Amino acid sequence: MTKKAFAIHSFLIRPSLALMLDAALQHDKLIMLRKHLQARGISDARVLDAMARIPREQFIDESLRAEAYSDRALTIACGQTISQPYIVALMTQALALRGNERVLEIGTGSGYQTAILAELARDVVSVERHAALSQQAAGRLLALGHDRVKLVVADGTLGWAADAPYDRILVAAAAATLPRQLIEQLVPGGILVIPLGCRDHQTLQAIHKVGDEPRIELLSACRFVPLVGEEGWPEG
Ligand code: SAH
Repeated sequence: MTKKAFAIHSFLIRPSLALMLDAALQHDKLIMLRKHLQARGISDARVLDAMARIPREQFIDESLRAEAYSDRALTIACGQTISQPYIVALMTQALALRGNERVLEIGTGSGYQTAILAELARDVVSVERHAALSQQAAGRLLALGHDRVKLVVADGTLGWAADAPYDRILVAAAAATLPRQLIEQLVPGGILVIPLGCRDHQTLQAIHKVGDEPRIELLSACRFVPLVGEEGWPEG
């Protein structure tokens, strides 16, 4: 093929290739919704709609694009991971969001879970200890029109007292014990979702703050990156 013919040829196929890749992602997203979420007990229509709307491929590295809707955690920057779609859906469903809540998220990571929360709640504050991750997430959330999310770079084991109390708290990193300040920053009747256990495996728990003894609902076995900070695991 001559150089000119090649240039015309690649010009012609490029848009259709992009469309094919897009169609493949849409197909994978449908499989995610039906097989990995609905078939495994995710029934909250608002959660399913939000997961259908938010493009997970925009929260990962370009090289992982084809994996965007596989049901597993994927590597992001700073040695962290974007959570598995089923776990994101399970945690979000457990928060029972109706649209007028103020939510605190600990562990912004890629910003994917943050975007889902922003679709479903009134106010979202998300705390991340790595500034680089927080900055990247800010760009992605803006691109999706979520300009009202407040992103904070801090140690989330202490919660974020400045905007407390919260109706819901979601912790996306694993702790050995429940950080005291998080339960203090939750309104009475509020729900806190957190993976609790050892460094290698944990149980995802929804803690309902009712009366003096919180009610604990066990959701699933899981494996999260450690919650590192003053009331969490030490660094390293
Ligand atoms: N839900 C996120 C994934 C979070 S991974 C997503 O959808 O991409 C867990 C995140 O918690 C990591 O980014 C990690 O840096 C962060 N993290 C760990 N300890 C933290 C702490 N004490 N305060 C704030 N963020 C923390």
